[in-house]
Amino acid sequence: MELFVSKFGGSSLADAEQFKKVKSIVTSDPRRRFVVPSAPGKRSKGDVKVTDMLYNCYDMLSRGESIDEAFSGIEDRYRSIISDLGLSLSLEEDFVSIKNCFIARAGRDYAASRGEYLNGKVLGEYLGFEFVDAAEVVFFREDGVFDEERTYRVMGERLKNSEGAVIPGFYGSMPNDTIRTFSRGGSDITGSIVARAVGADLCENWTDVDGFLMADPRIIDDPKVIDVITYRELRELSYMGATVLHEDAIFPVRGAGIPINIRNTNHPTARGTMIVPFPQADNVPGAITGIAGKKGFVVVNIEKGMMNQELGFGRKVLWAFEKNGVSFEHLPSGIDTMSVVVEEKHFDERKERILDDICELTNPEHVSVERGLALIAVVGRGMVSAKGTANKIFSAVYESGVNVKMIDQGSSELNIIIGVAEDDFERAMKGIYEKVVGKR
Ligand code: ASP
Repeated sequence: MELFVSKFGGSSLADAEQFKKVKSIVTSDPRRRFVVPSAPGKRSKGDVKVTDMLYNCYDMLSRGESIDEAFSGIEDRYRSIISDLGLSLSLEEDFVSIKNCFIARAGRDYAASRGEYLNGKVLGEYLGFEFVDAAEVVFFREDGVFDEERTYRVMGERLKNSEGAVIPGFYGSMPNDTIRTFSRGGSDITGSIVARAVGADLCENWTDVDGFLMADPRIIDDPKVIDVITYRELRELSYMGATVLHEDAIFPVRGAGIPINIRNTNHPTARGTMIVPFPQADNVPGAITGIAGKKGFVVVNIEKGMMNQELGFGRKVLWAFEKNGVSFEHLPSGIDTMSVVVEEKHFDERKERILDDICELTNPEHVSVERGLALIAVVGRGMVSAKGTANKIFSAVYESGVNVKMIDQGSSELNIIIGVAEDDFERAMKGIYEKVVGKR
């Protein structure tokens, strides 16, 4: 039988009602044998996630304040889930020992990880699945980097004969047995790690949206959900600010060819978005898969006559950025000009040094800095075969009354990057979406 790993995010496990939905999802398909929970998330708009409550307790202790009240707020979250679900489980002993460890200063990561740890215990009991502490199966090396080899070996062995297990997300252990967490949202990474370790056929990621959207809903009204997206397309869109899944969650499964399915716990009949390693023959995509963009870039233009004949010119320009620790995003160039697009916040920290170094290293005729650039990435594996996509994109920008300041297209034809003034950003995004994707 096929095997699925199902990760549930914080909003899917925020209270007993959400737990019930999770149980009905898990039990509706026997392939769902391994479940990875986040800590309870927000129940409503103004609510606080348990992970944030835990960080808060840690900070209060660092300031020498009492955590009695704040900690009992956390205990109550779990108590009410347990009693509303009618479980006989008691976490009272855990609460006492966790609070003692807090006071004994067991560390910030330890503090944050307890949200998932406790939720894993509750969910395991509710599903009738065994609880496997992530500290025993997810490992980090001395330098804090995730230890793939040891994790896959130990976890694979531990789960090999398990009929059903809950493995809390977000954390693992260091060689000295202390707890370490991934970065925020890191339960997604644990989900992918478990999928890889058990050789799953699918890694499900249950959240509170119908899937990965074709554009940012804060800019485009009701954008369409992407049915199928490749890992490479997802990388391009996430890099430009589209978020649903933790960026690092891709790596464990990509190498093993395991797809990820983003699903909605509150709307389980929706098929969600399938993230696949390679384009699939049975899924002929539209010309574009998605649009994403970010503000906050600057362009450094360097001009010098006969630049094209000067061997090593580009290397020297890039060295000026590299030696100041600033990485570049794009590099459009002309015959006698070279432009370097970089993130404004990084550039500003080292601006004087970079400009001095450019002048010293390349002796240019003119250097200028243009601020306030926004980048829009139009991404799609279908662009290679669809004629006229670029035409549509640029006429949309033109018809929106927006001036294009920069264009960059990778030779893979997976994306077209367009630079526009920040003030034109939303207008250009709307124009492109309407013309290329169409209204709903
Ligand atoms: N609970 C952690 C956080 O809030 C990890 C996660 O939810 O994935 O970041």
